[in-house]
Amino acid sequence: MLEIHDLEVGLDSEAGLVRAIDGLRLSIARRETFALVGESGCGKSMTALALMRLLPENGNVLAGRIDLEGTDTLALPEREMRSVRGGRIGMIFQEPSTSLNPVMKVGAQIVEAIEAHTELRGDAARAKAIDWLKRVGIPEPERRIDEYPFRMSGGQKQRVMIAMTLATEPDFLVADEPTTALDVTIQKQILDLLRDLQREQGMGLLLITHDLAVVSGMAQRVALMYAGQIVEVSTADEFFSAPKHPYAQALLRALPDADRRGEPLTAIGGTVPALTQAFTGCRFAPRCASAMAHCATTPPTLDALTPTRSVRCLLYVSGATPGSVRPEVSKGSQAGFDTSARTARGAADGKPLLEVKNLCVRFPIRKGLLQRTAGYFDAVAGVSFDIRAGSTLALVGESGCGKTTTGKAIVQLLRTQAVIEGRALMQDKNLFELDGAALTAARRDIQIIFQDPYASLNP
Ligand code: SF4
Repeated sequence: MLEIHDLEVGLDSEAGLVRAIDGLRLSIARRETFALVGESGCGKSMTALALMRLLPENGNVLAGRIDLEGTDTLALPEREMRSVRGGRIGMIFQEPSTSLNPVMKVGAQIVEAIEAHTELRGDAARAKAIDWLKRVGIPEPERRIDEYPFRMSGGQKQRVMIAMTLATEPDFLVADEPTTALDVTIQKQILDLLRDLQREQGMGLLLITHDLAVVSGMAQRVALMYAGQIVEVSTADEFFSAPKHPYAQALLRALPDADRRGEPLTAIGGTVPALTQAFTGCRFAPRCASAMAHCATTPPTLDALTPTRSVRCLLYVSGATPGSVRPEVSKGSQAGFDTSARTARGAADGKPLLEVKNLCVRFPIRKGLLQRTAGYFDAVAGVSFDIRAGSTLALVGESGCGKTTTGKAIVQLLRTQAVIEGRALMQDKNLFELDGAALTAARRDIQIIFQDPYASLNP
């Protein structure tokens, strides 16, 4: 259904041309889920953007072809590409906060997509939008369709994005980290929905993710990318049972495992190389525990080992019998992380550092032209816990259950938006009663790392 031939994408930068994608080749059949995996910065998302012809302003396709059922999409005039983009090819973007229009209600955004790419108009388009909000698990879709994105949690915004993309029933879907912001129950619901759509509509799916658990549950085939190139392509079963490329082997070994709880995590030492340089050998060589002398001077090519598997590694070239080489990553290439939660436990026995008692957070529901308060919505209802010095408390739950609201209320970021009751005692002071200089001083002692960097940094 989709074939990418020798795609090369470059980005102009002050440091020179960044070769973000270098000679990418892949093909995806109808009803197939093909996963593109790799660490961030390896070129996965850039591949998706090239496919949609949505490269950033400093990006260019330098060479290659992208064929969608025989049509070279790179050669289409922009006017025709507009009906392909969002119509025949849908894309679920990675970042819902920057992908939704903040000044349009979510329903209007979904209806706009439906009207642009289907025959439905007006009430029929709105009914379809509500139906899709229901299908992606948004509670009370009839009410929430008229909310602005800022009223929704990160996971709910992601589901709105998914509804907007799927409502136009695309033939081919590019899903860039579609479920990263979602909790496991919603994640399962969305992945089941994608599977059903594939069955019903014969949709092809390019799944871009670093979540190997999602890949193993969804994909028939996997391509692993490293520094702008594919280094291994195989069936998902082959990839997970016996990866061939040393990078694939190291990645699978780095997965946290419940059986190894308390042991240092395995990591791949070093970082992805800058893509502005001209490579003379294997791009993974500085991090590879199996590197040989000629790896630094001979660039490996992506060669077929079997009809279903190709690997870019000199270990499998001449002399080495495919399948017999299982290099082990030496201890030297692994960075150990100390799981210091254990060592801190001794310090966790004194008086609580923070005591939260019966925390309630209520948001007003506003209605009418004058936006009068018509009632209240309980986001947090009677939450109590304490945290001792040197200890970590994990607050877990589905998206929209009140976790983030609890954190923001403690850090005093909801004072003007919500009614807050209860107490948050820190060093015998109730944070909810502080004002002026005392509040400023307390804020120095209690900090928050926000969930969403795009919405948190001033652009
Ligand atoms: Fe490692 Fe050499 Fe294979 Fe590159 S070509 S992955 S350095 S063994």
